[in-house]
Amino acid sequence: MPNGVRTVVFDLDGTVYDKRGLAGRMVGKLWWCLPLLAAERLARRNMHYVQFADEEEFFGYFFATMSRGHWWGAGIAAEWYRHVYIPTMVRLIGKYQKTRPEVLALMAECRERGIRMAVYSDYGAVAEKLEVLGIDPGQFELLVSAPELGALKPCEPCVRRVMEMLGAEGESTLFVGDREDKDGASARAVGAKFWKVES
Ligand SMILES: [Mg+2]
Repeated sequence: MPNGVRTVVFDLDGTVYDKRGLAGRMVGKLWWCLPLLAAERLARRNMHYVQFADEEEFFGYFFATMSRGHWWGAGIAAEWYRHVYIPTMVRLIGKYQKTRPEVLALMAECRERGIRMAVYSDYGAVAEKLEVLGIDPGQFELLVSAPELGALKPCEPCVRRVMEMLGAEGESTLFVGDREDKDGASARAVGAKFWKVES
C-alpha cells in the first residue's frame, strides 16, 4: 500500500471478485427472459455519461429506456430488474465467482492498520453481494453505488459526493478497481491514487 493512504475505496464487481463467466451464467439462468436481459445491457450502455439529479430519476430513465420499443412497460422492467435480475446476479456471484486474494489481503491490511474502507460500485445490492462472498459489509464505513448518486462511473459529481460522504481527501485516498475508464477515471477526478487489479 502506498504511503500516506488513510482511506481505500474499493470497486465491487470485477474487483472484489473475478467476474469471469458471470455474464454467461446470467444468460444460462435467465434464458426465458433473454430480451429483457439484452434490453438491460443496452440501456446501461446508454446511461454512460448521462447525469441525473438522483436515484429515482436515474432509474426512471433507465427503465423507460429498457422498455422503449418492447411489449413490456417501465413498470415490468423495474419489477424484473429488482426481483429477478439483481437477485439472480447475487445468487450466482455467491455460488460461482471467486474473490480476489490480493484484494482480500488489502482489506486485511486496512483492518490491521486502521485504514478506513468504502465500497463504491456501479450496481446496487452492494451489501448483499459482499455477504454472499463471505465479506462482512459492516467493516466498511460506506457502501454506495453510483446510480444512487444519479449516474454511472466515472461520473465526477458522484465521486466527489463519495469523498464528501467519507470526509476524505484525494491525496490520502486509494481507489482499487478493475476498470481504468471507470475506477481509474474516478480516482483521477478527485486526485486520488489508483490500483488496478489484474483482470
Ligand atoms: Mg468493476
